[in-house]
Amino acid sequence: MSDRPVIVVEGLRKVYPGGVEALRGVSFEAHPGELVAVRGRSGSGKTTLLNLVGGLDRPDEGTVEVAGRRVTELAEAELLTLRRDVIGFVFQTFGLIPVLSAAENVGVPLRLARVPAAERDERVRVLLSLVGLAEHAGQRPYEMSGGQQQRVAVARSLANRPRLLIADEPTGQLDSQTALQIMELLRVLVRSEGVTALVATHDPSLLGLADRVIELRDGTLAG
Ligand code: ADP
Ligand code: MG
Repeated sequence: MSDRPVIVVEGLRKVYPGGVEALRGVSFEAHPGELVAVRGRSGSGKTTLLNLVGGLDRPDEGTVEVAGRRVTELAEAELLTLRRDVIGFVFQTFGLIPVLSAAENVGVPLRLARVPAAERDERVRVLLSLVGLAEHAGQRPYEMSGGQQQRVAVARSLANRPRLLIADEPTGQLDSQTALQIMELLRVLVRSEGVTALVATHDPSLLGLADRVIELRDGTLAG
């Protein structure tokens, strides 16, 4: 592929206090528009890898580059900007703000980026309809199913048109039918929004939707 990779990870090593070596020299690249699934059993290092790629934590060795920025060399303030403008996050537990409606939750990153109100409202409307929730804009998280809440979280993660979407077991709390729907939604959005996605999952039935699957075993990439 001639496109410059969106993710370049080289020689990542992470040792937690207490001595657990969660990553032992992990290297890979992801290209524009690619949906890369990270598989591996619980404890294999998936969350550690995603957190390091997303600038939520720092490695002991190795480098991470996202959309041309050296994540591992950025100061905290620059990491905040990177996470706001370049990377969207989706977590297993949705992470919505309970007192805000679906529309308000999706609008949070746009407020943080100081997008003008009219433009913000329009972007929120488009995003909610992209995830099939146009009719649910005014509902609070507790008035929605788990699958609907994760759709809101996916819409929110795309609000600032990130280059990279990082999703850590986004279907881990959903039944298998809903899990498949969320994974299919991610698949469609990666294409339509032109975003690159790094998705951790240990659900084998979802791996078929990925462009590429990488497997972690005890902190090392297998195969
Ligand atoms: P996965 O997401 O694949 O389940 P993790 O990246 O969460 O794997 O964990 C990898 C290894 O690092 C595990 O052995 C886990 O117990 C350990 N670990 C994860 N987070 C911490 C932490 N904050 N402190 C100490 N050990 C940790
Ligand atoms: Mg994990």
